[in-house]
Amino acid sequence: MVKNALLSVVFLFVLVSAGYAQSSDAAMNSFVTGLLNKMTLDEKIGQLNLPSAGEFTTGTATNSDIGVNVKKGLVGGLFNIKGVEKIKAIQKVAVEESRMKIPMLFGMDVIHGYETTFPIPLGLSCTWDMKAVEQSARIAAVEASADGIGWTFSPMVDISRDPRWGRVSEGNGEDPYLGSQIAKAMVKGYQGDLRSNSNILACVKHYALYGAGEAGRDYNTVDMSRIRMYNEYFPPYKAAVDAGVGSVMASFNEIDGIPATGNKWLLTDVLRKQWGFKGFVVTDYTGINEMVDHGMGDLQTVSALALKAGVDMDMVGEGFLKTLKKSLAEKKVTVAEIDLACRRMLEAKYKLGLFKDPYKYCDEARAKNEIFTEANRKVARQIAAQSFVLLKNRGNILPLKKSGKIALIGPLADAANNMAGTWSVATKQDKSISVLAGLKQVLGNNAEVLYAKGSNLTADAVLEERATMFGKGLNRDKRSEEEMAKEALDIAAKSDVIVAAMGESAEFSGEASSRSDIDIPETQQKLLQQLLATGKPVVLVLFAGRPLTLGWEDKNVPAILNVWFGGSEAGSAIADVLFGDVNPSGKLTMSFPQNVGQIPLYYAHKNTGRPLAEGKWFQKFRSNYIDVSNDPLYPFGYGLSYSSFTYSDVQLSSTALKGNQTLKASVTLTNTGKYDGQEVVQLYIRDVAGSVTRPVKELKGFQKVAFKAGESKTVTFNITPEDLKFYNSNLKYDWEPGEFEIMIGSNSRDVKMQKINWTK
Ligand code: BGC
Repeated sequence: MVKNALLSVVFLFVLVSAGYAQSSDAAMNSFVTGLLNKMTLDEKIGQLNLPSAGEFTTGTATNSDIGVNVKKGLVGGLFNIKGVEKIKAIQKVAVEESRMKIPMLFGMDVIHGYETTFPIPLGLSCTWDMKAVEQSARIAAVEASADGIGWTFSPMVDISRDPRWGRVSEGNGEDPYLGSQIAKAMVKGYQGDLRSNSNILACVKHYALYGAGEAGRDYNTVDMSRIRMYNEYFPPYKAAVDAGVGSVMASFNEIDGIPATGNKWLLTDVLRKQWGFKGFVVTDYTGINEMVDHGMGDLQTVSALALKAGVDMDMVGEGFLKTLKKSLAEKKVTVAEIDLACRRMLEAKYKLGLFKDPYKYCDEARAKNEIFTEANRKVARQIAAQSFVLLKNRGNILPLKKSGKIALIGPLADAANNMAGTWSVATKQDKSISVLAGLKQVLGNNAEVLYAKGSNLTADAVLEERATMFGKGLNRDKRSEEEMAKEALDIAAKSDVIVAAMGESAEFSGEASSRSDIDIPETQQKLLQQLLATGKPVVLVLFAGRPLTLGWEDKNVPAILNVWFGGSEAGSAIADVLFGDVNPSGKLTMSFPQNVGQIPLYYAHKNTGRPLAEGKWFQKFRSNYIDVSNDPLYPFGYGLSYSSFTYSDVQLSSTALKGNQTLKASVTLTNTGKYDGQEVVQLYIRDVAGSVTRPVKELKGFQKVAFKAGESKTVTFNITPEDLKFYNSNLKYDWEPGEFEIMIGSNSRDVKMQKINWTK
């Protein structure tokens, strides 16, 4: 009885909310249609225009006088501007002085936090903690919205398997399944309920395949089969769309010979017709204009191409503003096409509630009280500590004791301005916690920290300048290498342990920062060699925006803690982990190659017709190299803890399944170490035979579980046919019956396996 009553209430609620959604859609439609009917052609085209205010840009700023254009109704939104006072003033012009009084959207690259800065996205992904990922986006949304921003150009979900590409730092690594979970969590964190004034519109980017540029060179050509797009590169974008992302950014690269920005198959057929996307599409920075250089025609031609393909908003380039009217007169575009794009822009503003309150993000009190708060910084510190990956810990030299003398050496040891990492335009560089400050804070009077820079970032001053842009210079030291090293060795001699803070600077990765050599720069390596030669224990605190090639370091340095760029609280978080207040739990989301020649290297590769025999690293006439094994240095999913976890064999609820049954796969883990800790338990599946070749394993689930020292727990995954689906050669998404390998383990290499058979 009670159950039935409850069900009816739920049913009623579903009906009412569906009705509400329908009626609110109808209200939006009639509101937007009413507006469109009153707008001139110029005003409609104006809504499609997104200039940059030029406060922080990656390209050239907009030429037109923004203020004048806003008054004329020729600007739909503005980005690269922050601060309630400034934004309010411009919004006032739009809603009081322009004829149609349409509010503007204010956007920004809020990529990994706002003033409170979280780890770079690649680091954040290594937490494998979806609550933490969502929370970081939530805090970013609260802070950005308190400062006038209502739209972020995030999440960036480009799958990449090429660490030479500098923008791997902005993404979530190589795996489509994990990338999809993160995409979903980020969209939820930013957008939540868009009607609230602390939620902002998200923009998934860079659609699509931007991470697959040839040779890891930024903005480079992409050429890929459709089956690979659908199975390996599209899933995170689609996951963001399924999660309700409000906008999509077209990527710079070409796909099937047509730049994404002008690619109708991509922007309309796949995005809207197949996936049901309802928001608007914005170009990347001057994406339309760049189609001229791609070789697609002059500005008028490419602008028409973009509109017809499904672009709604033109970032910076003013191709729409300058040419659409002419194209309409020449019948190269239609009014319906312009109206549709304009409608989508107006709908986004409606959904955000800007027509009700254009100043919803302009609350001075919020700006004062909600940004860079102690509470937010505390969360950032915890999340940063979770993003670090312990790559090596020979002889358990970590955690360190909070006593004695510690030599802190390296160009990144006292570099507060580098902690936030790339793409952190709102961060307060001077308020970030350096490693030196973090160590001192955590150690207090218990131990003494001696500091020396030891070396410059690189011996090459030109490279160093390129790698330290945007105020992230490392005060290039004029002394000779020898003098700097001597100072470092002097303090090392007086100390019990050496902490070497080295690696890449923040701008060694990020946009337009591809590298062909992904070693630690030679001058730092030389210093590291000298520090090791002292015979003192050395811990390498490695800063990196990408997987580096660490063959030498792996052989020679006893402990390596990869800290990526941990954000504004990085220094404190590093100290938390070094001294054991936090047990590291991060796991890699990109394979670390042994050398650049192995790239692209990823765990979910195909078997080929000539795979290596188990345990071999070279066999003639097999798929391998003669000079290096096929293995990564550190595999996807890898990361150590101060504890160790043993895995039982995989227990299955059945080995013969049929139709829509659920398979339960379990392992029992025991924390055999002395510390409480967390382990990311990973589930991989191999589809042994299919109508198309399938990867040797694919991540299909993971759980991050906490264990007390000595504790055992059983971890169970529920597997359904949904987890077996893939796109076949007709791009049909389905599963095929047959044999499957079910693998569970602590990384993509070290797994326990059981076979099953699943029939339809
Ligand atoms: C980048 C985008 C970014 C845009 C706006 C471009 O150069 O590719 O990721 O959102 O600039 O700043």
